Amino acid sequence: MRNVRYGPGGVPDWLEPMVRFCSRCGAALEFGPVAGEERQRLACPRCGFIFYVNPRLVVTTLPITEAGEVVLIRRGIEPGIGKWAQPGGFLEIDETVREAAIRETLEETGLRVEPGAILGLYSRVPAAVVVVAFEARIVGGSYTVTVEAQETRPFAPEAIPWSDVAFETSLRALRDWVAKVRPDLALPHMAELSRDYGG
Ligand SMILES: [Zn+2]
Repeated sequence: MRNVRYGPGGVPDWLEPMVRFCSRCGAALEFGPVAGEERQRLACPRCGFIFYVNPRLVVTTLPITEAGEVVLIRRGIEPGIGKWAQPGGFLEIDETVREAAIRETLEETGLRVEPGAILGLYSRVPAAVVVVAFEARIVGGSYTVTVEAQETRPFAPEAIPWSDVAFETSLRALRDWVAKVRPDLALPHMAELSRDYGG
């Protein structure tokens, strides 16, 4: 998400085209003060509808093999194409967080997992997402290649491809996992890996 700016709609530039019109009556939304609201909002001047724009939840897992390795995918789609990340995706409106974790992991890796402890919650403000990362036990399935994942393979804690990880949130989750399972290992400093991330 390069050069994210907050435009006249109060949302990141990339989001602005999606919040132009009232979803109730179709009039153009206006950004400004709204009675009863503590901050400026996108609201409809015709029908009064307030369009609240909030981050979305991305549900991910760190599938762990019996040997204690973490399964990552080499992403086949943007953002982060060609880079490594844990499996995951947006929570759907009709499922629980746990169901999403199981579904997304199966779709992207071919592995069936049982989500365990939540490793962490990671905000990525420019991308307007919150990423939840579950540690997950692999209980079945087999590695598959999909459009979303060019390659799927396990990495030992000491072999994480730190400089080739797709997202800042993935780096943070992987750092937290390594710190938990192998506290003896030196962790990369986020600043040394800093660059533009997709989310
Ligand atoms: Zn309206």
